[in-house]
Amino acid sequence: MSAVQQLTLSLPKWINDVVDWQKVYNTDDEKMALAVELSKQNVLRGTGGPFGSAIFDCVSGKLVSVGVNRVVPMHNSTAHGEMMAIMLAEQNVQSFSLSADGIKRELFTSCEPCAMCLGGTLWSGVKRLVCAATADDARAIGFDEGPVNASSYQYLTDAGIEVLRLVQRDAANKVLQHYANGGGEIYNG
Ligand SMILES: [Zn+2]
Repeated sequence: MSAVQQLTLSLPKWINDVVDWQKVYNTDDEKMALAVELSKQNVLRGTGGPFGSAIFDCVSGKLVSVGVNRVVPMHNSTAHGEMMAIMLAEQNVQSFSLSADGIKRELFTSCEPCAMCLGGTLWSGVKRLVCAATADDARAIGFDEGPVNASSYQYLTDAGIEVLRLVQRDAANKVLQHYANGGGEIYNG
């Protein structure tokens, strides 16, 4: 028997109960509220780690994709919330680049990206990255964010990606705390 040569990654079935795909998201607060709510629901419903993300069209405010952490249920160390949102957005627009069609898109994430997701953000073509909880907040409950430092962010900024941090940090950090207090699995800790 040969090794596995194909895989499927999926979001939990409850996503459509929580996400209003028709809504127009006008403010950073509205957009981040969705990312944080996704992180919270992922914990409450036991479908992955305490991280949520969403990608929007910058100008229209339309929602392009969402992601939640699926590492443990999908047996996939790369299934972080940001990566799920990026991969699904790219499928939606049928391109490996979320800026190839000239439309600016932005990634909202409930926690500052790990090393992999910061790289994924760069390759995705999004033009804006907005974060809630900090990498230190994630580290405080035992997650390893990998080699992320000030120069990593500088690289994104130099590449033309606007970065905004600490938007709704407290709400997002509460979800991290709730996950840790509930005995949630800390992988790659
Ligand atoms: Zn990550």
